[in-house]
Amino acid sequence: ERAFPRATLGCPVLDDLLHGGLPCGSITEIVGESGVGKTQLCLQACLSVQLPRERGGLEGSSVYIYTEGDPPVKRLCELVERRVRRQLSHGSLPPLDNVLIDCDIASPKDLWVCINQLPNVIKGSSMRMPVRLVMIDSVANVFRDVSDRPTVTELKERTSMMFRAAAVLKELADRHNLAVLVVNQVADTMQGVNEELQSSGRGVLPSLGLAWSNCVNTRIFASRTGQGLDASRKLQILFSPHLPPAACEYQIRPEGVVG
Ligand code: ATP
Ligand code: MG
Repeated sequence: ERAFPRATLGCPVLDDLLHGGLPCGSITEIVGESGVGKTQLCLQACLSVQLPRERGGLEGSSVYIYTEGDPPVKRLCELVERRVRRQLSHGSLPPLDNVLIDCDIASPKDLWVCINQLPNVIKGSSMRMPVRLVMIDSVANVFRDVSDRPTVTELKERTSMMFRAAAVLKELADRHNLAVLVVNQVADTMQGVNEELQSSGRGVLPSLGLAWSNCVNTRIFASRTGQGLDASRKLQILFSPHLPPAACEYQIRPEGVVG
């Protein structure tokens, strides 16, 4: 485990589930329906990765690729105010200066270009802390918006692009010993299939299908039952080379995701 440091998620319960946090050197995916808190987790991760090592952080900055429109900067600022300002006051730059947000992604091609620029972005980053976390929120969104009924050729191109994109991300994770977190949605039309897969213990089939599944090292499934403050939320490890299947409950509060 020492060769693959972990980046704390800023919550002991979530960190326990992941044996210390997001693993460097591999691709972790979080899958779940809209509103479960995938974006909240990303925001929290890009702040907690900045924490000093004695607090479980990597003293690193992050690149946050946001494909769903206006990035949640306001919420990020709120999280800084509510949870990390004091924790990070060890002479470092303001937390927001250590998060590079790229949100100009409208098509699979844009995402492909963006991912291919990552090696140079990471090398040439003007952020003072080295980049130790790369997040894409989300991949499903980009591919879904192309067309509802892709042709066979389009599907083949997409699959090939996904494989190549995953290879670039994995190479970056290895080279810079950084954590990659990719957000994906569960395909609504797949709900029946998912229930079957879950009850058989094989996991869920996210929007991008099985081809993408093979590109991911660790998959975490986020789910919610109930609404509002009564909602009960669960994170579940579906597969991972270094973690046993396990689950924990979590809540979303103004100060962030808590166990
Ligand atoms: P999508 O797939 O649509 O992007 P998501 O999984 O990214 O969804 P999030 O945006 O991370 O979902 O989570 C939204 C939920 O987070 C809201 O439903 C709300 O319950 C909770 N939330 C967001 N901001 C706050 C806040 N300031 N205080 C408390 N809860 C909040
Ligand atoms: Mg989101």
